[in-house]
Amino acid sequence: MQITGEMIIGSQLVRGSAGEVKAYNPSTRGEFEPGFGQASGADVERACELAAQAFDPYRSLPLEQRARFLEAVAEQILAIGPVLIERAQQETGLPQARLEGERMRTVNQLRLFAKVVRDGRFIGATIDTALPERTPPRPDLRLARIGLGPVVVFGASNFPLAFSVAGGDTASSLAAGCPVIVKAHGAHLGTSELVGRAVQRAAIECGMPEGVFSMIFGDGRTIGQQLVSHPAIKAVGFTGSRGGGTALMRTAAARPEPIPVYAEMSSVNPVFLLPAALEEGGSVLANGFVDSLTLGVGQFCTNPGLVFAVKGAALDAFTAAATTALAAKGAGTMLTAGIHDAYNSGIARFGATSGVRLVAQGGLDGIGCAAQAALYEVDAADFIGNPELQDEIFGPAALVVRFDSAEQMLQAAEQLHGQLTATVHVAPSDHALAARLLPVLERKAGRVLFNGFPTGVEVSHAMVHGGPFPATSDSRTTSVGASAIDRFLRPVCYQNVPEGLLPEALRDDNPLRLARVLDGDLKVAE
Ligand code: NAP
Repeated sequence: MQITGEMIIGSQLVRGSAGEVKAYNPSTRGEFEPGFGQASGADVERACELAAQAFDPYRSLPLEQRARFLEAVAEQILAIGPVLIERAQQETGLPQARLEGERMRTVNQLRLFAKVVRDGRFIGATIDTALPERTPPRPDLRLARIGLGPVVVFGASNFPLAFSVAGGDTASSLAAGCPVIVKAHGAHLGTSELVGRAVQRAAIECGMPEGVFSMIFGDGRTIGQQLVSHPAIKAVGFTGSRGGGTALMRTAAARPEPIPVYAEMSSVNPVFLLPAALEEGGSVLANGFVDSLTLGVGQFCTNPGLVFAVKGAALDAFTAAATTALAAKGAGTMLTAGIHDAYNSGIARFGATSGVRLVAQGGLDGIGCAAQAALYEVDAADFIGNPELQDEIFGPAALVVRFDSAEQMLQAAEQLHGQLTATVHVAPSDHALAARLLPVLERKAGRVLFNGFPTGVEVSHAMVHGGPFPATSDSRTTSVGASAIDRFLRPVCYQNVPEGLLPEALRDDNPLRLARVLDGDLKVAE
């Protein structure tokens, strides 16, 4: 399929007229032809107008048709074939196997949401029957959750398929019945076009209302801000930097009608090595840790950037084994020149921080945007006095904090900022200490995991990829897994609405065969 540099606005392919941006190869630092036309204000206006018009017809479609649309998007992505992987490889420097895995994850994510839509439990259908004899009488009350309205999705640089144009935010918005406008990420413009066209083909094939999906090319600070400010937009999905996420939160909050921004931003994902686990498994733990740290050149939201352990011979052995493992890791190409520059300034800042010592480094080949992995250590007193050491360095860098005692480590856990994940390595004799640590970590992180490493986020029903600020803008939500759909729904109560006017989910005869709560009891349809 030919890449043309055109945007998708409803059923049209539109060449943006406000300048042109070239796609970029971070391995060679070369640019691609053709350029991508950038959106004008009029393009944003048109996409928002179409999305607003599409909202009622789209959300009113039978659930089966909505589910089928999500499945058709998955099929159309697969139908692009190897050209998608080749283009994504050129634009991101990520290896073929990783991108093929990510494509499968994207497709399975869409299929999972199709299943969630068919199941209908996300509607939360709840009925309190009228009690006319009661004093005062109770009216007939019926609750169903509907979509918020059109959603703007900012594609993420670090997951060019699974968290970009047809990724988790788009899939969960569409599943909730919300039209989507994607602001494509400049780090993979050609990949975005290929996937955007796949979504457009699926929308046309499935007879979706025009405007259910659009994709815009443009600068975040102008076009992205204009999208978030537009009155037709009712929510935002974002994965990226803390600066970008908080800028969008401010814009959304300052609108005449404020709207929610679901931003997934920065997390250093602390790993606690409890004393007996460290004693028993030091070198195995070190290898697992280095693999997790360097996976995807450290460009994972769940990259383990902080290690907490009590100092002593076991920690020294862990650091020595990690040093050997890290030295064997070659340099990997980072996603963009901007991310590469940010990484280099982050490690330079670390290196210049009082008390922080460089203990190990990976290889460096110096080609393109290659990043050299780095491991630092610091004594607890220096860490506790410097909250900036908790700032995310996006890439393969981590800091080992050396505590004098387990008590001091527990106290420092209380000082942690909000995190996507917190990891604890335990042996059976560590359980008493772990039992004291767990309630602290529950307050700090969206996912607490034991005896593993945080990279690798399963797309499933029980997954939480969220956490308190600055990990995300709203700790009540997840951006991965079936519950991600909840972000784009709101409840409506129908009081004494005549049966024929009620949504199907709430009718007496339950035509959708939904599990519903009836007068406080869960009733499963036969
Ligand atoms: P980014 O700079 O936050 O950009 C993400 C998206 O938001 C882009 O489409 C960008 O548009 C837009 N944007 C940025 N600032 C904006 C603003 N003030 N107003 C409106 N839109 C704005 O993230 P990135 O380019 O992916 O990577 C840069 C850094 O983000 C990394 O070095 C890393 O620190 C962090 N990051 C973190 C995660 C994570 O999961 N924790 C993931 C990815 C990146 P433009 O590109 O047009 O500006």
